[in-house]
Amino acid sequence: MFGGSPDHEEVRLSASDSELTVIAIDGPAGSGKSTVARRLAQALDLEYLDTGAMYRSVTHAALSRHLDPADHDAMARLAREVSIEIEADGTVVVDGIDATNAIRGSEVSQAVSVVAANPDVRAELVARQREWTRKRGGGVLEGRDIGTVVFPHANLKVYLTASTEARAARRARDENTADESKVADALTRRDQLDSQRRADPLRQADDAVLLDTTDLSIDEVVAALLGALRA
Ligand code: C5P
Repeated sequence: MFGGSPDHEEVRLSASDSELTVIAIDGPAGSGKSTVARRLAQALDLEYLDTGAMYRSVTHAALSRHLDPADHDAMARLAREVSIEIEADGTVVVDGIDATNAIRGSEVSQAVSVVAANPDVRAELVARQREWTRKRGGGVLEGRDIGTVVFPHANLKVYLTASTEARAARRARDENTADESKVADALTRRDQLDSQRRADPLRQADDAVLLDTTDLSIDEVVAALLGALRA
């Protein structure tokens, strides 16, 4: 699905992108992006792309090959070469091997922000994300730079936030961990790296709908966003 390296022209937006239906969902880890993006995709009959899984896949491939995530040129080459398949049920296949669980492990979580700060890795993955979306006539994409970089003209841009405590509690539940403060520290560190990097940092697009999900149910968030889309 994400094999091969498109040439540089592919990275630019084409005129026909105005015909795509794109919902861009950005925000920090644990803000509810994945659940909300999946539900919105279902409601709108669009496909869903978890772009974080792509950065995680490159990181997993680097660790499997004993490469240094901070090695700029090695990561740039790897991003161009690695095959990443993300299936509709969430299965992630990296270079032909099921990596669905491995990409969520703590080793990958600790190293992914370093790999994602590499501008050449980003250029390659952004090109693949645009290609994926064009092939489908649109989609619901979640990540850190969808509304600011990947699809700045998306039909709806959403920026989800939540308190650090709420985000850590959700992640601890997902990861089946009791130590919420350790999870909170790891989240805060990753947020800092993601929002302070030079290449496409995590930030809210000026025209994004901002929603704090701390005290909202998934149903409430989805209803609010469907309302914003119709408005
Ligand atoms: O969404 P998730 O937490 O799985 O993302 C993992 C990491 O991938 C983020 O912490 C960030 O470093 C990177 N990422 C990114 N741009 C995206 C999606 C994810 O830099 N669009």
